[in-house]
Amino acid sequence: MADIIQLLPDHVANQIAAGEVVQRPASVVKELLENAIDAKATSITLLIKDAGKTLVQVTDNGIGMSVTDARLSFERHATSKIKSAEDLFNLHTKGFRGEALASIAAIAHVELKTKTENSEIGTHLTIEGSKVISQEPAVVPKGTTISVKNLFYNIPARRNFLKSNPVETRHIIDEFHRVALAHPNVAFQMLHNGSDVFNLPSSNSRQRIVNIFGSKTNEKLVPVHEETEILKIEGFVLKPEFGKKSRGEQFFFVNDRFIKSPYLHHAVASAFEGLVKSDIHPGYFLFLEVDPHSIDINIHPTKTEIKFDDEHSIYAMLRATIKHSLGQFNIAPVLDFERNKGFDTPYDYSKKQPTAPSIEVDRDFNPFKEKPKQGNINFPFKREQPASWESLYVGLKDGFGSTQPPERTSSGAGWSSSGAGWSSSGAGWSSSGAEMEMEFESEEVTGSLFENENSEIGQITFQIQNKYIVSPLKNGMMIIHQNLAHQRILYEELLKNITVKEAVSQQLLFPLQLHFSKPDLEIIERVREQLEHTGFIFSEIKDETIEISGIPVLILESHVVNLLNQLVHDIKEEVPDTGFSQNDMLAKSMAASMAIKTGVSLNKEEREHLINQLFACKEPTVSPTNKPVFTALDVSDLDKKFM
Ligand code: ADP
Ligand code: MG
Repeated sequence: MADIIQLLPDHVANQIAAGEVVQRPASVVKELLENAIDAKATSITLLIKDAGKTLVQVTDNGIGMSVTDARLSFERHATSKIKSAEDLFNLHTKGFRGEALASIAAIAHVELKTKTENSEIGTHLTIEGSKVISQEPAVVPKGTTISVKNLFYNIPARRNFLKSNPVETRHIIDEFHRVALAHPNVAFQMLHNGSDVFNLPSSNSRQRIVNIFGSKTNEKLVPVHEETEILKIEGFVLKPEFGKKSRGEQFFFVNDRFIKSPYLHHAVASAFEGLVKSDIHPGYFLFLEVDPHSIDINIHPTKTEIKFDDEHSIYAMLRATIKHSLGQFNIAPVLDFERNKGFDTPYDYSKKQPTAPSIEVDRDFNPFKEKPKQGNINFPFKREQPASWESLYVGLKDGFGSTQPPERTSSGAGWSSSGAGWSSSGAGWSSSGAEMEMEFESEEVTGSLFENENSEIGQITFQIQNKYIVSPLKNGMMIIHQNLAHQRILYEELLKNITVKEAVSQQLLFPLQLHFSKPDLEIIERVREQLEHTGFIFSEIKDETIEISGIPVLILESHVVNLLNQLVHDIKEEVPDTGFSQNDMLAKSMAASMAIKTGVSLNKEEREHLINQLFACKEPTVSPTNKPVFTALDVSDLDKKFM
């Protein structure tokens, strides 16, 4: 019998190998991005057309390749990353198999342009289906651009197998996220069919997460940190309440490489036990560092799976660390770092028998009885003027329900009033220039809105769902949306600061360094002056970095990144010609970022303060974006519920 065994020609072998490495355009994206990282690029641009089916192109500013290396890089088993099998156990690069480019070139039209730092001129190589079509000298910048066109052009079955453009794009974005998250110090850009999808400046990992997943993410992150001899863990988990029904943001990186590990996932999920319902998936961004000798990443061709030598210890450590971080976050409210000593039992008392307190009861107390009027009211806040909220409800002597809600004047400042209280001439806000001044006509406050309005008004308040503040009125109740109310307060305060230029700053001990893309930085430059009026101190703005040495007293340092990102976003989104001034939009955007959020629990003083401040506003009824801030229910409304 004749010999029947033959060696497969290279291009066939490559096509078969390609089937393993390249399943879809996203696989090409992953390989090219990882090569760019391995080439020490600091800036990488990914450009795709038609979900990568027509084009995937990656440009980097890395080390580039020589003319010969350019050619060799498309050979099978051509790699600069390992020399012996030994090296496999000490990998610091993403690639090592030398298969990716060979595989991709077997099933697409590929163009490579590359130049090293030291060569005068670069090279331009064209390959189709493993065949070199041309190689010419080319004038190109340092670094590498690889364009992969018409993927699977020679394997129609595979091409037909590709999913719809949105699905393939989703896969590409997933890969892009994974590489971008693992390398926050590298700048990334992604464009699809000519428009920007991501523009990620070089930053740190928190900022990178926020830049990718949106400014709202910042406040959801709980930092995780642990370092032992065998393992270092850094990163964040999402607060339990932000878990999702679908698997959302779940990222493990081991030595800067994204991996999937059901085993480690289980460790994280078990740390969340009892904090989330069983159908909710916690979110996490966890960066593990281990000795490269203690893992084997060679078990899967696309290298998203990994084997640890000491899996059990890593599981236990991960679980304990996350539990610890969540615990810290749960018991320690944001601003309260120290335990209040007042809660401890004084030493003298620790051994004493408790005695029952004697109680005195005021049997005449009737919470529904109206108390006699008592002069003026003290406001525990900045604007000392007494004429605030109840004055808004002038003519309420007959009770809240019988009065029409007060009308807003067309100018929007203050209220028009028919009876006592405000009159446009005497009392109320007179806006002289930008300065708001308040004069008060009479000491006597005629309307009494709140049940217990003597020296401290609005004393009885409740919070519902950490979202609404409820306060009884003389003849009903008022329900205030805490976030919208605070937005209104901040908006007026900020607008005043911007125009009157009187805000105070809090100096930062360590100046903040923030990174923005060039266009974003230009936007900040444009509003720099106004921002400075609100209390920001920019010690330096240059290249893509801002150094901030002072911030408005109204905000927390940790919110600054968020706030500026949101501001840039809002300014970009701003519809031209809406008739609003830039100051107005600036104040709106900042107020929205800074305002107390839904979900924040407020204590009694905070609730009162908020109410007082709200009703010291010019327009307490509506939020800066024109939503109602509060609503009132009177007894007759309630009565209807019981009929
Ligand atoms: P691997 O990454 O496993 O080594 P690849 O097929 O992905 O295999 O790449 C082959 C070789 O081509 C790499 O080892 C590297 O030397 C070179 N190379 C690939 N992409 C780039 C790039 N963007 N910049 C510089 N060199 C590159
Ligand atoms: Mg590679």
